[in-house]
Amino acid sequence: NEQTFIMIKPDGVARGLVGEVIKRFEQKGYYLRALKMMNVPKELAEEHYVDLSSKPFYKGLVNYIVSGPVVATVWEGKGVVVTGRKLVGATNPLASEPGSIRGDFCIDVGRNVIHGSDAVESAKREIGLWFPEGLA
Ligand code: ATP
Ligand code: MG
Repeated sequence: NEQTFIMIKPDGVARGLVGEVIKRFEQKGYYLRALKMMNVPKELAEEHYVDLSSKPFYKGLVNYIVSGPVVATVWEGKGVVVTGRKLVGATNPLASEPGSIRGDFCIDVGRNVIHGSDAVESAKREIGLWFPEGLA
């Protein structure tokens, strides 16, 4: 069964949007396969976004992810990677469709509430990275 990695970023946790995110994925019909709240070690944040390490915003991005606890989740179901990205919305919240999580809850690309894996292969990599203990 297809799985994706969804992380509620520090601003999403601080603003009390954890329940809202979980509700939307559950309502859509996806199954919550794993969930944990954690402070993110800097090395994990760096590895998670390693593909962006040459970008000018990389350092700020890593600092943002380690700035407070996140909620790391794994979701399972038909088409969950692509459809999960639709639920999340476009990267820049000013371009995200209303009705998507970013479209409804934020305005700043540097504080965009949530992460979603962008492909089945990256989902596998990210689930291994964030849940090295495996799923129950
Ligand atoms: P995520 O991987 O967090 O789900 P995404 O896949 O929509 O987001 P990426 O291109 O992977 O977008 O960028 C990762 C994160 O880096 C974005 O969510 C955003 O917080 C930050 N970011 C991307 N582009 C910019 C930018 N131009 N300026 C500042 N931050 C940016
Ligand atoms: Mg991405």
